[in-house]
Amino acid sequence: MDIPENVQAVLKTLEAAGHEAWCVGGCVRDALSGRRPEDWDAAASALPEETMALFGSRAEPTGLQHGTVTVKTEGGPVEVTTYRIDGAYLDHRRPESVAFTRSVDEDLARRDFTVNAMALNLRGELRDPFGGREDLCRGLLRCVGDPDRRFQEDALRILRGLRFAAALGFAIEPGTAAALRRNREGLRDIAPERIQVEFFKLLPGETAAAVLREYPEVFGVFWPELLAMVGFDQRNRHHCHDVWEHTLHALDAVPGDLVLRCTTLLHDVGKPACFTLDEAGVGHFYGHPAISRELADRMLRRLKCAAGFRETVVRLVEWHDRDIPRTDKAIRRALRILGEEDLRRLILVKRADNLGQAPAYRGRQEELDKAEAILDRLLEEDACFSLKQLAVNGRDLLALGLSGPAVGAALEELLGRVVDGALPNRREALLAYLQKPREADGGERTR
Ligand code: ATP
Ligand code: MG
Repeated sequence: MDIPENVQAVLKTLEAAGHEAWCVGGCVRDALSGRRPEDWDAAASALPEETMALFGSRAEPTGLQHGTVTVKTEGGPVEVTTYRIDGAYLDHRRPESVAFTRSVDEDLARRDFTVNAMALNLRGELRDPFGGREDLCRGLLRCVGDPDRRFQEDALRILRGLRFAAALGFAIEPGTAAALRRNREGLRDIAPERIQVEFFKLLPGETAAAVLREYPEVFGVFWPELLAMVGFDQRNRHHCHDVWEHTLHALDAVPGDLVLRCTTLLHDVGKPACFTLDEAGVGHFYGHPAISRELADRMLRRLKCAAGFRETVVRLVEWHDRDIPRTDKAIRRALRILGEEDLRRLILVKRADNLGQAPAYRGRQEELDKAEAILDRLLEEDACFSLKQLAVNGRDLLALGLSGPAVGAALEELLGRVVDGALPNRREALLAYLQKPREADGGERTR
């Protein structure tokens, strides 16, 4: 793949001023393996102040202490970082100091994995002192240098390694894999926000389930709740797998979207705490969705997830085991509460959950097909399931003499009746309903 024009222009400007300049890191890895790089980073021998001077008003000092200057171009921002050697790591997190160097190979040596430690220049020359290209061809993740030392310097690399394995479908070289397990406790020193970033890039990965299966104890450092699922025998004919294996099979069956993967990973996390055995020796997990929800909420808060994301996931976790009857009314009710996006997500989670169960019980797929068909039809028919679709609004009700909280309450009541099919979503019908004297058995309404 060719280096984009705007990035080439930045490299050219640096070279024309007598500096060395290379594309480095993830973009080289992705370009060499035919993936589309998300962003192109540059490394240069120029000192940050030299880069600043060279690009003038287009340059912004976005990370000067690390030697990073961001150059604005028409094709988007390009980060230029001065070749750097990291000083001693004293806290498993960050180097005490960084020193600039004029050697690109020294800069590559500080990088985490061989496939991330290559550089490419304008003439297509590849700088690859650690055999990154060969590892890339073989689909292998290997630390640059001694893996124990590298993971002790910065424990986030442990999770980055698993993230690249899951996203790229790579195997982890045995020495790197062993060191990654050995040094996992170092993750305790890493800020939860940084763990979240890497973990959330891992979950949508193609081989996320396989990586979780192979390294549960690593994820258990920040989410010990997962470990309770590992090997937990369900003692129930619906299940041919223990809770963890079931979860991983479901994870494999759900699309690689973060919300779906996170929900699926957590949907049964409360099962071990709910387990009961009946007289016949059959296992049950009564109330597990609520417990799963509670645990999931705690786990997501621990990683400092955004509130909106957390709320979406825990709601889907709570709903995952509810039956959605295949009727217009039930689907409209679910739409009212969840909205279209989350109801579609719920169906996908339920499909995956069912695919993770014993083969004889996978017939649920047809029920979900039916629910989905009804959902599609209702949306096509513009079925009413939200206040903004209701044929009357607050102003109509004010005109009828309602005021204050009674307006909202009346709107909700009308919506409930429309959703349940008791009233048509027509203005006259809705207004007439409100003006009609209350029947003895009718709902309550305050004026
Ligand atoms: P992505 O495509 O997801 O951005 P990436 O490899 O570009 O992947 P970044 O986090 O953007 O990952 O980091 C850019 C480069 O910086 C990496 O390729 C690697 O060379 C280096 N790097 C990043 N984080 C570390 C780290 N913790 N330790 C050592 N090198 C790192
Ligand atoms: Mg990157």
